[in-house]
Amino acid sequence: MLNMYDAQKAMDLVRATYSAHYPKMLDANGCDEVFEFLDLPQFTKKFALTYNACFKQANNFTESAGEVVDFVNAFVASDYRNFRRKIYVKNDPKLKWGTLVHEYIHYLTHRYLYPACYERGGAWPDRIEGITEYLTRTTSNKVAKIRTSYETQFLQVDSYVGGDPSKRLAVIQCCFAGETWKLGTLFPPS
Ligand SMILES: [Zn+2]
Repeated sequence: MLNMYDAQKAMDLVRATYSAHYPKMLDANGCDEVFEFLDLPQFTKKFALTYNACFKQANNFTESAGEVVDFVNAFVASDYRNFRRKIYVKNDPKLKWGTLVHEYIHYLTHRYLYPACYERGGAWPDRIEGITEYLTRTTSNKVAKIRTSYETQFLQVDSYVGGDPSKRLAVIQCCFAGETWKLGTLFPPS
């Protein structure tokens, strides 16, 4: 079962890879302030709150929180203030460590990225996952090997970047520095 040691390890990796690209002190909160590991009943309650307040409408989902929660391993409770966000992780032995890396990238994501993608609608809300997964898998080869989530979204972002370092930097800046005007130069309209 994943625990706080795994969470700290995930934070260390993300910080080592991306700290030059987000504002100083954004990662000031400690691991136990950022992550909370919950058994299924508590996780289900927390998930319903955020799902009903945010995810459902933003993604045009019609299912109820109870119908979706089985497919959710972890999520970030939304707040435009990064330091007020919280990562909830389901206590489930099937979860892999890479999930914590993915979620911590969401935690550090600039508040401009979510509305920029949600307002565009269409494929854009899903592109947040593509960007997050791309940045997750490119933290290290080890993480790239264990990740299987958001495969389609990842492949799409990876193909637009096409190994070009300046495009990779633009993705990083969209995510962490709020330079969301670069989305239009990275991705075709959809
Ligand atoms: Zn995600």
